[in-house]
Amino acid sequence: MHDPDCLFCKIIAGQIPSSKVYEDEDMLVFKDIHPAAPVHLLMVPKLHIPSMAQVGAEQAPLLGRMLAKAPELAEANGCNPYPQGGFRLMINTGDEGGQEVHHLHIHLLGGPRPWKKG
Ligand code: ADP
Repeated sequence: MHDPDCLFCKIIAGQIPSSKVYEDEDMLVFKDIHPAAPVHLLMVPKLHIPSMAQVGAEQAPLLGRMLAKAPELAEANGCNPYPQGGFRLMINTGDEGGQEVHHLHIHLLGGPRPWKKG
Protein backbone atom coordinates (compact mmCIF):
# COMPACT_ATOMS: atom_id res chain seq x y z
CA MET A 1 0.00 0.00 0.00
CA HIS A 2 1.23 3.47 -0.92
CA ASP A 3 -0.14 6.72 0.52
CA PRO A 4 0.49 9.51 -2.02
CA ASP A 5 0.48 12.13 0.76
CA CYS A 6 3.03 10.32 2.95
CA LEU A 7 6.62 11.61 3.08
CA PHE A 8 8.15 8.17 3.69
CA CYS A 9 6.03 6.57 0.94
CA LYS A 10 7.43 9.22 -1.42
CA ILE A 11 10.98 8.39 -0.28
CA ILE A 12 10.29 4.66 -0.80
CA ALA A 13 8.94 5.40 -4.28
CA GLY A 14 12.07 7.45 -5.10
CA GLN A 15 10.04 10.66 -5.54
CA ILE A 16 12.06 12.34 -2.74
CA PRO A 17 15.78 11.62 -2.35
CA SER A 18 17.24 9.92 0.70
CA SER A 19 20.62 8.67 1.89
CA LYS A 20 19.79 4.99 1.50
CA VAL A 21 21.96 2.50 3.38
CA TYR A 22 19.91 -0.70 2.87
CA GLU A 23 16.85 -1.97 1.00
CA ASP A 24 15.06 -5.29 0.62
CA GLU A 25 11.51 -6.41 -0.16
CA ASP A 26 10.31 -5.46 3.34
CA MET A 27 12.06 -2.23 4.22
CA LEU A 28 14.07 0.83 3.23
CA VAL A 29 16.73 2.13 5.61
CA PHE A 30 18.14 5.63 5.24
CA LYS A 31 19.99 8.27 7.26
CA ASP A 32 17.87 10.66 9.30
CA ILE A 33 18.07 14.15 7.80
CA HIS A 34 18.48 15.68 11.29
CA PRO A 35 20.73 13.17 13.08
CA ALA A 36 20.30 13.09 16.86
CA ALA A 37 23.33 10.81 17.36
CA PRO A 38 26.55 10.05 15.42
CA VAL A 39 24.66 7.14 13.81
CA HIS A 40 20.96 7.84 13.17
CA LEU A 41 19.12 5.61 10.73
CA LEU A 42 15.41 5.26 10.01
CA MET A 43 14.16 1.74 9.28
CA VAL A 44 10.92 2.07 7.33
CA PRO A 45 8.59 -0.72 6.16
CA LYS A 46 7.67 -0.43 2.48
CA LEU A 47 4.07 -1.12 3.49
CA HIS A 48 2.32 2.06 4.66
CA ILE A 49 1.50 1.31 8.29
CA PRO A 50 0.76 4.64 10.03
CA SER A 51 2.25 3.73 13.42
CA MET A 52 2.79 1.01 16.05
CA ALA A 53 -0.83 1.65 17.06
CA GLN A 54 -1.91 -0.28 13.93
CA VAL A 55 0.43 -3.24 14.53
CA GLY A 56 -1.03 -6.60 15.55
CA ALA A 57 -0.30 -10.26 14.98
CA GLU A 58 -0.59 -9.86 11.21
CA GLN A 59 2.30 -7.37 11.11
CA ALA A 60 4.44 -9.23 13.67
CA PRO A 61 6.53 -11.21 11.14
CA LEU A 62 7.41 -8.01 9.26
CA LEU A 63 8.33 -6.20 12.48
CA GLY A 64 10.36 -9.22 13.54
CA ARG A 65 12.32 -9.21 10.30
CA MET A 66 12.99 -5.48 10.70
CA LEU A 67 14.18 -5.83 14.30
CA ALA A 68 16.38 -8.78 13.35
CA LYS A 69 18.15 -6.60 10.76
CA ALA A 70 19.14 -3.93 13.30
CA PRO A 71 22.39 -5.48 14.61
CA GLU A 72 23.81 -5.86 11.09
CA LEU A 73 22.76 -2.31 10.15
CA ALA A 74 24.26 -0.91 13.35
CA GLU A 75 27.60 -2.58 12.72
CA ALA A 76 27.69 -1.68 9.02
CA ASN A 77 26.95 2.01 9.74
CA GLY A 78 29.48 2.73 12.45
CA CYS A 79 27.98 1.74 15.80
CA ASN A 80 30.62 0.37 18.15
CA PRO A 81 30.35 -3.28 19.22
CA TYR A 82 28.19 -4.44 22.12
CA PRO A 83 28.50 -4.11 25.09
CA GLN A 84 30.71 -0.98 25.28
CA GLY A 85 29.08 0.32 22.09
CA GLY A 86 25.60 -0.82 21.12
CA PHE A 87 22.61 1.07 19.81
CA ARG A 88 19.10 2.25 20.67
CA LEU A 89 15.91 1.38 18.78
CA MET A 90 13.03 3.81 19.22
CA ILE A 91 9.48 3.83 17.79
CA ASN A 92 7.61 7.05 18.49
CA THR A 93 3.84 6.48 18.32
CA GLY A 94 1.18 9.18 18.09
CA ASP A 95 1.36 12.80 19.17
CA GLU A 96 2.03 12.03 22.81
CA GLY A 97 4.65 9.50 21.73
CA GLY A 98 6.50 12.19 19.78
CA GLN A 99 5.63 10.88 16.30
CA GLU A 100 5.85 13.47 13.53
CA VAL A 101 5.86 11.33 10.39
CA HIS A 102 2.85 9.00 10.34
CA HIS A 103 4.49 6.08 8.56
CA LEU A 104 5.85 3.52 11.01
CA HIS A 105 9.63 3.82 11.45
CA ILE A 106 12.27 2.53 13.79
CA HIS A 107 14.97 5.00 14.81
CA LEU A 108 18.38 3.31 15.10
CA LEU A 109 20.70 5.52 17.15
CA GLY A 110 24.29 4.84 18.13
CA GLY A 111 27.86 6.05 18.37
CA PRO A 112 29.71 7.87 21.14
CA ARG A 113 27.55 9.87 23.57
CA PRO A 114 26.15 12.37 24.39
CA TRP A 115 23.19 12.21 22.00
CA LYS A 116 20.34 14.65 21.58
CA LYS A 117 17.74 11.86 21.95
CA GLY A 118 18.30 10.28 25.35
P1 ADP B 1 10.59 13.01 15.79
O1 ADP B 1 10.89 14.13 14.85
O2 ADP B 1 9.99 13.45 17.09
O3 ADP B 1 11.73 12.04 15.97
P2 ADP B 1 9.37 10.86 14.33
O4 ADP B 1 9.63 9.72 15.28
O5 ADP B 1 8.12 10.82 13.54
O6 ADP B 1 9.40 12.22 15.08
O7 ADP B 1 10.64 10.88 13.37
C1 ADP B 1 10.62 11.43 12.11
C2 ADP B 1 12.07 11.54 11.71
O8 ADP B 1 12.12 11.73 10.30
C3 ADP B 1 12.82 12.71 12.34
O9 ADP B 1 13.94 12.23 13.07
C4 ADP B 1 13.23 13.57 11.14
O10 ADP B 1 14.50 14.17 11.31
C5 ADP B 1 13.22 12.56 10.02
N1 ADP B 1 13.00 13.09 8.67
C6 ADP B 1 12.06 13.97 8.28
N2 ADP B 1 12.14 14.20 6.95
C7 ADP B 1 13.16 13.42 6.49
C8 ADP B 1 13.76 13.21 5.21
N3 ADP B 1 13.30 13.83 4.11
N4 ADP B 1 14.80 12.36 5.11
C9 ADP B 1 15.27 11.74 6.21
N5 ADP B 1 14.75 11.89 7.46
C10 ADP B 1 13.71 12.73 7.59
